[in-house]
This record gives sequence, structure tokens and C-alpha cells, in this order.
Amino acid sequence: MDLPRTANAVVIGGGVVGCSIAYHLARRGLRDVLLLEREAVGSGTTSKAAGGIRAQFPTETEIRFSLESIGVFERFREEFGVDPGYRKIGYLFLVSEAADLRGFEERIALQRRLGVDVRVITPAEARELVPALRVDDLIAAVWGPNDGLAGPAEVTAGFARRARELGARIVEGAEVTAIEVERGRVQGLRTSRGAVAAPLVINAAGPAAARVGRLVGLDLPVHPRRRHIFFTEPFPEIPGPVPLTNDRASGFYFRKELEQVLLSPGDVQDIGEDLVAPVDWGMVEEAVQKALHRLPILEKARIAGGWAGLRPLTPDDHAIIGPAPGLEGVFLAVGFGGHGFQHSPATGRVVAEWLLDGKPPMDLALFDPGRFRRGALAHDRGPDAE
Ligand SMILES: Cc1cc2nc3c(=O)[nH]c(=O)nc-3n(C[C@H](O)[C@H](O)[C@H](O)COP(=O)(O)OP(=O)(O)OC[C@H]3O[C@@H](n4cnc5c(N)ncnc54)[C@H](O)[C@@H]3O)c2cc1C
Repeated sequence: MDLPRTANAVVIGGGVVGCSIAYHLARRGLRDVLLLEREAVGSGTTSKAAGGIRAQFPTETEIRFSLESIGVFERFREEFGVDPGYRKIGYLFLVSEAADLRGFEERIALQRRLGVDVRVITPAEARELVPALRVDDLIAAVWGPNDGLAGPAEVTAGFARRARELGARIVEGAEVTAIEVERGRVQGLRTSRGAVAAPLVINAAGPAAARVGRLVGLDLPVHPRRRHIFFTEPFPEIPGPVPLTNDRASGFYFRKELEQVLLSPGDVQDIGEDLVAPVDWGMVEEAVQKALHRLPILEKARIAGGWAGLRPLTPDDHAIIGPAPGLEGVFLAVGFGGHGFQHSPATGRVVAEWLLDGKPPMDLALFDPGRFRRGALAHDRGPDAE
């Protein structure tokens, strides 16, 4: 598609977040919405996600995001004409330490007040859910039966497809290289394929958010950190479906993907500024060690492959959503860490409503772009689950 010369709003980034925003803006009736993607839609960190979806978050705002998003995943096929592969396999956290369990209990009280089905169960009950588990060193497990998974590629494609049908234009292979600002107001941007005049620019650039922020002099604390996922050859000895199971003591998590077992060592690696995340095959050993401790039967399995991706993390593990401080016409939807996929439906809606109604549709102070300057970081981070 040719690059339009003008737009009412330009979304930078065609990951699941940017596509949801473009869809919701178009659905609310905004004309001339343009999404620019430097490579192909969905090819960024969205393509690396494990697809996990949970309502077990530490804050009311995030839990509300989860519940709204889960509702969208449940009816995604009817609304978007794409099967998102949504399945309620549940999330299971394995707990070994009393202090960790106390943290869960506090969060569970809030989650239950908001209507989330989540319970503390015994190690033996965890074993009934996943018979291959070693549980003798656990003190409890936390079980959310309504959590689950869906396909990030399918969901992104669904948002992009409906956005286009509603009139939004999506241009791939167009990298934003400059954003023009005059007297504190955005005028438009320059790309590898030409210039676009626009009064509103939305930074949804995922791991490249800080780089795009620098185009307008913003210092965004979005730090891409590498995480690996490996997968076994078909392994029927652990029959699926199994919950997405997270071993709190080691950070290791696993689930089944068709006949294979997906394993992540739960690593958080700083790989600098170049925004590429090659697989470090040395990480297989760490993943296998952690896996064998929790699932001894995996001794019979063989690793068949793996991938690595970048999670765009912020210092308090909460996203940054809101107008850029000190600039008119720049909006931020970045820093989604390990949960940008699952929160993308709610994110798109609140961003579109905020932009078109001139105010946030709910309390979004948790995501306030100005909070880092005020040093307000004393949040409960909750489990780093994906
Ligand atoms: C190993 C791993 C497992 C994960 N598991 C889960 C999970 O189970 N559940 C979950 O919810 N989340 C998970 N995540 C996190 C999730 O992948 C991200 O939070 C989410 O995909 C972020 O989406 P995004 O649209 O912000 O970023 P992206 O998908 O990276 O989209 C941003 C896009 O912007 C484009 N772009 C960047 N700069 C420019 C520019 N200058 N001009 C034009 N385009 C530009 C990029 O090409 C990219 O396509 C996981 C992540 C990793 C790495």
C-alpha cells in the first residue's frame, strides 16, 4: 500500500498493541487512522509470546484489564472472524516459601473481591492437575482455573483485519525515522517511505519504544530484556492439556503446545540497545536443569528447538499509557513487559476512548507516564509469570 500523505492519527508499531489501538480508533469512528510497521504486522515481540492469559495480577487496574480482555478472547471468533485458539487451561503457581505464599494470599483477596476464581490448593491437589509434577518441596500452589492461552499471531491478525475493514490503513515496511514537533505540538513524521502530516502520534513500538521516544526527546524507561522458550519433541508422557505452570522458586514455567512441551527458564537478560534477541543455546542447560527438578519424567524428552524474544520492561513492571508529558499530540502505549498480549484488548479500548473523549475512561494512574520522575515505584510487582 502507498503511504498516505496525511492522517488524523498515526500508530507507530504493528504489534498486538498497535493493531488493537488502530482497530479501536477506527471502531470509534475516527477517520484516516494510519498504522506504520517497520517490518510486517505481528513480526515483533508479539511473535515470541507464549500466549498466556491470566487474571492473577497484583493491582485492581490490571485485574480489570485482564477480565475485560478475557471477555474479548472468549467472543473473539464472532467479533473478529478469526479463531484465536483460546483455551482455558488455567494458570498454576507452585509455591515453596511461606513469605511468597503470604504475598499470594494478599493478592488473592483483591482478585476474589473483583470476581476472579483463584484458590490456594495443596501440593497433592497440584499433582492431580499435573501428575508429572514433583511436589515434595512445595508448601502450596495457587490455581486460577479460568486463566488460559490464545494465539498472539491470530489475535493480532484479527485486530488488523477488522481495523482495515473499518477504514484504517496499515502500511508495512515503513520505519518511522523522525517525528516533527513545532512549539511543543506534533506536526507529522518522516518514514523510510516518505513523510506524513498528522496531529497525533501513538508510540506502540514495543521493545523499540525508548528509541521512538528519543525521536521527540523523551527518555522512556522501557528496557527490552531477553527471555527464552524451548520446546521438546512430541512428548505424550505428559498428556495435555496442562495448566501454564510456573515454579516460583526457579522462575521456570511450562505448558503443552500440541504434543510438545514448551519450557522457559524464566530468564531476564539485559542484551543492550541493539534490539535483537538471538537464541543463546547455552540457556538450554539452565532450562533443562530447572525442568528436571520439577518434572523428572522429562529426562526421557529431547529438546527440539527454541526461540528468544524481548520483553519491554519498565522499572515497576507496569505499562506506560497516557499522553507524553510536555508534548501535544504524542501518546504512549508501551512497556507491557510479559503481559502485553493478554492486555491488548483492554489497552486498545482505553487508549481509543482516552484519545477521542479527551479523558481516561477509568482510573489509569497505575500507568501514568510521569510516575518515574516522581519516584513512585513502590508497587507490588506480583509474579513474573510469562
Ligand atoms: C519469551 C516471551 C514470552 C512472552 N509470553 C507472553 C505471554 O504468555 N502473555 C503475554 O501477554 N505476553 C507475553 N509476552 C510479552 C508480549 O510478547 C509483549 O508484551 C507484547 O507482544 C508487546 O506487544 P507490542 O505490540 O507492544 O510490541 P511488538 O509486537 O514488538 O510491536 C511493536 C512493533 O513496532 C515496530 N516498530 C518499532 N520501531 C518502529 C519504527 N520506528 N517504525 C515503525 N515500526 C516500528 C516493530 O517492528 C514491532 O512490530 C512474552 C514475551 C516474550 C519475549
